[in-house]
Amino acid sequence: MNSKIDIKQLESEPATHVQSSLNNVQAGVKIQVKSTTGFHSNLRRLVAGLGFLAFFGCVWLQWGGHQAVLWDLENRQFLILGLTIWPQDLYLLSFTLMIAAFGLFAITSAIGRVWCGYACPQSTWSWVFIWIENFIEGDRNKRKKLDLEPWSIRKLFKKVTKHLAWFSVAFITGLTFIGYFTPIRQLSVDLMTLNASWVTVSWLFLFVILTYLNAGWLREQVCLHMCPYARFQAVMFDRDTLVIAYDEERGEPRSPSKRKTQPDWVDGGAQQPGDCVDCTLCVQVCPTDIDIRDGLQYECISCGKCIDACNGVMDKLNLPRGLISYTSENKLQHNKGAFLSKRFMGYSLVLALMTGSLVYGVYNLPSVDLEVDRGRGASLYRENYLGEIVNSYNLRVMNKSQGVQTFDIDVLGLENAKVDGLNTFSLKAGEVSQLAVSVTTQLTDLQQRVTPIQFKVWNSSDTSENDTVESRFVAPVR
Ligand code: SF4
Ligand code: SF4
Repeated sequence: MNSKIDIKQLESEPATHVQSSLNNVQAGVKIQVKSTTGFHSNLRRLVAGLGFLAFFGCVWLQWGGHQAVLWDLENRQFLILGLTIWPQDLYLLSFTLMIAAFGLFAITSAIGRVWCGYACPQSTWSWVFIWIENFIEGDRNKRKKLDLEPWSIRKLFKKVTKHLAWFSVAFITGLTFIGYFTPIRQLSVDLMTLNASWVTVSWLFLFVILTYLNAGWLREQVCLHMCPYARFQAVMFDRDTLVIAYDEERGEPRSPSKRKTQPDWVDGGAQQPGDCVDCTLCVQVCPTDIDIRDGLQYECISCGKCIDACNGVMDKLNLPRGLISYTSENKLQHNKGAFLSKRFMGYSLVLALMTGSLVYGVYNLPSVDLEVDRGRGASLYRENYLGEIVNSYNLRVMNKSQGVQTFDIDVLGLENAKVDGLNTFSLKAGEVSQLAVSVTTQLTDLQQRVTPIQFKVWNSSDTSENDTVESRFVAPVR
C-alpha cells in the first residue's frame, strides 16, 4: 500500500459553490477572514503571544553588561546569553539550523503543518494585522461592505487608521529585527536624535516595508506562492500524520439545517442527510480561502480555524463536535494506524543525536582560541651556537569570553625542551595576542626527524578553559 496521502490540486471550477483561493487571487478578490473563537483559536493566540514576547522582549535583555542576544556584525561575534560565538565557531549555528530543520520535519511528520498555522512569523504577523483590521473596520461582512462603499470621511478615517496601525506594528517589528544586529538601546537613541547612519536607516526602512507588505497585503500569497515549505511538506506526510480533515462519511450529503426535518429531501427519502448544513462558515474563517470539505489541499496551513467554526455550528445544532477535526487518513478510513510512525521516529532519533552533540559542543566550547603557525618564511629549524636545535612558531591567542582573562601557555611532547617567549598574560574580551615563540632542545633528545608536539593555553584560574593545538618539531635526524 502506498503510504503517501493524496493532496488535491483542485480544478479551476471547484466542486463547491465557494470560489477557491487561487480563483480569488486570479480575480484580484481580497480574502476577508471571519474571526473565530474556540480552542484552536485560543491556542494560536497563546503561541503567537509567546512568540511576540520572545521576539520583542529578548532584544532588550542585558547579560553581563551586554545585550543578551546580539549578532554583532561590526565585531564579527554572536552574543547569546553570555556565550560568544566567533566566526570559527559558526558551525554551531549551522548545526542549530539543521536541528531546527529536523525538528520541523519531525513535527510535520507527526502533526502536519502546525508550524505554519500557529508559529510561523508570516502567519503570526498576518493574524495580528487581521486582528487590527477586524478591530478598526469590523468583522468580515462589515469589511466587505466597507470595501464596496463609495469613499466617505468615515471610510477614509477607518482606512487611514488601519494603515497607520499596520505601519506602527511594522515599524516596531523592523526596529526590533534590526536591534538583533546592532545594539537596540543605542539604535533607539540614535534614531530619536537623528544620529543613526543611513545604512541602518535603509535596513530599518526595508524591514518595515517588508513587514507591512507581507502581513498587510500579501498574507496568504506568501504561503501559496513563495514559501517552499508548503511545496515539499507533503513528502513528510504519511497516513498517520495528523491533518485537518472533514469527515465526509458523516457530513455528506450536505443539507441546509431547516431541511433536516424533511426526510424525503434527497432521492425521495432514500438517503439520509449528513451533518454538514452547508453554512460555509468553515470557508469564511479560512485564511487561505479553501473549502476543507473538498479534501486536503496544499493551501491548508493547519490553523484549526475551520474546526472551531464547525464545532460552534455543531454545538448549536446539538450534534457531536468533530465534523472537521485533526485526524489521520488511517483514522478516517477506519484503519488501525501506528501510534508513532517510522518516519517520525527516524526524524526524532536524528534530532536527539544532533541536539545531544550540540549541547556537548556548546558545553565544551572553550573561551580561548589558540592557533599555531610555524613562522612562514623561516627555516624548518636552525642550530644555535651551543649546537642545540631551535624551531620557531607564531602563536595567536584569542580571548573568546565577554570578560578579561589571564592565560598560561606551555608546550607538551618534548621533554627537557626550553621555551622562549611564553609567559603569563592577560587579554580583554575579544582581544587577540600574537606571540613569537621558539622551542630549543638537544639533538640527542630527539629520535626522529619530525616530533609531534602540542601547544596548550589555559585560563590561569580555571584550567578547564583551555585549548590545545597540534604542531611539530623538526630536527636534522636521519
Ligand atoms: S482549511 Fe481550516 S485549517 Fe486549513 S487553512 Fe483553512 S481554516 Fe485553517
Ligand atoms: S462549518 Fe461545518 S456545517 Fe458548516 S459548512 Fe463547514 S463543515 Fe459544513
